[in-house]
Amino acid sequence: KSKQLGGNRITFYETEMKQKILSRFELENYLRKALKRSEFFLCYQPVIDLENGTIIANEALIRWNQPRLGLVSPAEFIPLAEEIGLIDEIGRWVLNEACQQTKKWQQIGMHHLGIAVNVSGKQLQNPAFFQEVRLALKHSGLDSNYLTLELTESAMIQKLHSSIKVMRALQKMGIKISIDDFGTGYSSLSYLRSLPINSLKIDRSFVNNIQETPIDMAIVKAIITMGEGLEVDIVAEGVETREQADILRELQCDYAQGYFIQKPLASHEFEAFANREIRI
Ligand code: C2E
Ligand code: MG
Ligand code: MG
Ligand code: MG
Repeated sequence: KSKQLGGNRITFYETEMKQKILSRFELENYLRKALKRSEFFLCYQPVIDLENGTIIANEALIRWNQPRLGLVSPAEFIPLAEEIGLIDEIGRWVLNEACQQTKKWQQIGMHHLGIAVNVSGKQLQNPAFFQEVRLALKHSGLDSNYLTLELTESAMIQKLHSSIKVMRALQKMGIKISIDDFGTGYSSLSYLRSLPINSLKIDRSFVNNIQETPIDMAIVKAIITMGEGLEVDIVAEGVETREQADILRELQCDYAQGYFIQKPLASHEFEAFANREIRI
């Protein structure tokens, strides 16, 4: 039918389709080579104590600098890495790099700096995962108390029973478990009660509109109250303004992270940032 619209039109559609298929294929091929070619690096985004402004930890956020494509967002390539079976290898690299860097920072004076690492559901389900975490700690010399693993609700409930087992074993080792993007998943209170967790990270979609949207304020309040009951720490992500930070402090939210405090930084930039006095 589109032929009636003229030859050019068909060519256009075909070209566009080819480009789409090619780009996904190319992206996949580039991704398979990225680790060997050292195209990944980590950025670090500080998490602060809302009461006194101290940096308590960083979150490690992966970056991929593909020479031809430029920076590719993790929101784009992490799901692809999960799909094509690369996430274990990439995740292992992130874990080792993040632990080593944090140990270095502890050694140069930030003695109590922690690190949070994002873990995909696929990694958690890999039987070798527990051992890999142990090895990353052993090789870096980082104390397990300084490591937090961030998991999303959907990652945990994919295989709830085995996930809980691994999470318990990790906690027993001294590692902390955090639920990332909290509030966007299934949030059934009954399973929340049975999950071995140390902290909840309130999703930035609630934090963003806290001043102007009463419902979001109510949700954030409820999560903070629930955190007290569950005896877990509450971290607000995506804090972009001073006003948001002030409200969260008043609500007695424990920790905060977001552009208002600091955007994710390359390792050398983080050192400069940490050397300045931090006040909020
Ligand atoms: P996430 O773990 O929820 O990380 C928070 C994301 O929000 C980061 O995006 C961060 O740069 C961004 N962000 C931080 N503060 C603000 C703020 O104030 N405002 C706004 N608008 N955004 C803020 P990023 O680095 O692009 O990462 C996106 C997602 O990719 C992460 O979400 C996480 O799910 C995933 N990811 C990143 N690194 C890794 C990794 O090493 N392993 C795995 N499995 N996933 C990762
Ligand atoms: Mg995270
Ligand atoms: Mg998050
Ligand atoms: Mg989020």
